[in-house]
Amino acid sequence: MSEFVFKKKYGQNFLSDKNLLNAIADDAGITKDTEVLEIGAGAGSLTSVLDEKAKKVVSFEIDKDLQDKLESLGLKNTKFVFGDFMDFDMADVEKMFKSKFKVVANLPYYITTPIIMKLFKSKKLESLTIMVQKEVAERICAQTGEKDYGSLSVLAKFYGESKITRIVKRQMFFPQPNVDSAILHIDIDRKKFDGVDDEEFLKFVQNCFAMKRKTLLNNLGKIYQKEEIKNKLDEKTLAKRAEALSLEEFVELYKKCNTK
Ligand code: SAM
Repeated sequence: MSEFVFKKKYGQNFLSDKNLLNAIADDAGITKDTEVLEIGAGAGSLTSVLDEKAKKVVSFEIDKDLQDKLESLGLKNTKFVFGDFMDFDMADVEKMFKSKFKVVANLPYYITTPIIMKLFKSKKLESLTIMVQKEVAERICAQTGEKDYGSLSVLAKFYGESKITRIVKRQMFFPQPNVDSAILHIDIDRKKFDGVDDEEFLKFVQNCFAMKRKTLLNNLGKIYQKEEIKNKLDEKTLAKRAEALSLEEFVELYKKCNTK
């Protein structure tokens, strides 16, 4: 490990503070019955804590230069998988767990949102306790009408209940990043809306926010015929911006736009 060269392209900002690592596991509510998925083992500091507390840990790491170090830790309950997490089919990841699993990870910054979106698709996901850039955590937790409210806030509400459990200063990482972080906890509680397909709804919400300052008429006009949506929706709604709509209002809008 002494000659290890940190790779910025992989978002390698490692943690070593034992109190903080324990706090992350506590925020996740890990017990001896819990199965855990970690993305980004790094040098294994968080993995080691999880290994002690959980029933089972599956930990992905893209950087093969870390393989010897990780395998030398001799962790009893952990299976390391070396490769890009994004290349794995979620169905294959699910097969690595007997029951529901919790995600606990200090996520690489450059790929936080794609990882979260991929995880949301799993029906076996119970919760996420993840270290992310503070601004991303704030966006996810933002409420309707707030400055940070965007498609990610709506989708997070669609899939569960989010809260920031603690703010983590940049000085806690090595090498030190240029931003502060936060631990975000999301309890998965899929909202059941009849006739709403997750994937299609996701695209719809992203389209509504495509140009944040524009009205829904402008944004929806890019994916539907303007005349068609004018027939389906009232003027007042079309003059609103996406940031003014709650999750329930998005669902209603989605349904109206997609009925024949
Ligand atoms: N868990 C360690 C810690 O807290 O010290 C490391 C966290 S570091 C922020 C993120 C880790 O994710 C790095 O080790 C990096 O190599 C790894 N990583 C980056 N992209 C990845 C990907 N697509 N799949 C799997 N691991 C990835």
